[in-house]
Amino acid sequence: MKVKKISHIGISVPSIEDYIGFFEGFLDLEFTGTEVVEDQKVKVAFLTIGESRIELLEPTAPDSPVQKYIDKNDGKPRIHHVAYEVEDLEAALEEAKEAGIKLIDEKPRIGAGGVRIAFIHPRASAGVLTELCEQH
Ligand code: ZN
Repeated sequence: MKVKKISHIGISVPSIEDYIGFFEGFLDLEFTGTEVVEDQKVKVAFLTIGESRIELLEPTAPDSPVQKYIDKNDGKPRIHHVAYEVEDLEAALEEAKEAGIKLIDEKPRIGAGGVRIAFIHPRASAGVLTELCEQH
């Protein structure tokens, strides 16, 4: 598999507003806006750091997968996933299937920014929910 870089690290937060100050203010990362991903019931704030990003993920509904994750962590923010940018997502998913890697998404779906993404099950990836994505 050809992984190009860490695309972003997703951090689940109960409220973007409560935590943006650390990332934009203290770390001085460039805040480039927010986007609601209806499919995932999540609002995403993007902060650029070099070639990568931090994405703050705030649930928009009680049944959001991100809300469930926050609930599991006693309502506290936590790293939610690490996303690797790959050259060819379909080829990467084929490779994963051949290697017996447990996938959450067998096929690419559309994530924030209209980018094609797919998640690998954390059981297969050192306990960390892992996203594969293609470049914007
Ligand atoms: Zn992501």
